[in-house]
Amino acid sequence: MPNGDDQALDQLSLAERLARVRAGIADAASTAGRAASDITTIVVTKFQPVPLLRELYELGVRDLGENRHQEASAKAQELTDLDDVTWHFVGQLQSKKARQVAGYADVVHSIDRPALVSALSAARETPLDCFVQVNLTTDQARGGVVPDELDPLVEQVLATPSLRLLGVMAVAPLGEEPRQAFARLRSLSDRVVALAPNASRISAGMSHDYREAIAEGATHLRIGTAITGNRPSPG
Ligand SMILES: *Cc1c(COP(=O)(O)O)cnc(C)c1O
Repeated sequence: MPNGDDQALDQLSLAERLARVRAGIADAASTAGRAASDITTIVVTKFQPVPLLRELYELGVRDLGENRHQEASAKAQELTDLDDVTWHFVGQLQSKKARQVAGYADVVHSIDRPALVSALSAARETPLDCFVQVNLTTDQARGGVVPDELDPLVEQVLATPSLRLLGVMAVAPLGEEPRQAFARLRSLSDRVVALAPNASRISAGMSHDYREAIAEGATHLRIGTAITGNRPSPG
């Protein structure tokens, strides 16, 4: 059930929610002594209808994120006329879908195991931008590579000419202060940068924790509901 806060969100227009989040990002960046222009905001549009994506485009959004292959593929196909959109795939990715995702995605945020690197390696002629997703929880079943296995996975990506590593990605665990989790992500990012000086980007921060992510160096925010409004319930 949406709480009161979420209901208030749906009273605003899309343009108002976008403006509100953009102001929040500018504010958090300035508090952190960072330039807002160094931060890419990806609007995550899963479950949202295509007209809403067009409306976002008209409001100046050029980075769209999706987390399920079928839906992402259908939307990218319907919106091929918007040829300066950068499509971000942010969801868990099955190896058998990897080649198809590489056909329309510009950036994949969820590389979390060797098999996926192999599956993506032969998928493109031009390099695919990607993030390695790290699991910040103690639950091994969650998406992301565990920190102990991060370095070999990064090495494998670096050895794959069809992949260009941008950096690390994570989702803050439930039940932990997001700032603390993002601080861990930042130190993992430092470790990756020691292996790959250009892979300094950090994909972190969602509707409820983007300020904390900005404070810990996030360069790519993945924001859904705070901008789109609540997602229509599936089915
Ligand atoms: C849905 C989703 C988001 C956006 O979540 P909100 O809470 O709606 O901002 C970000 N990242 C991933 C991986 C997602 O699946």
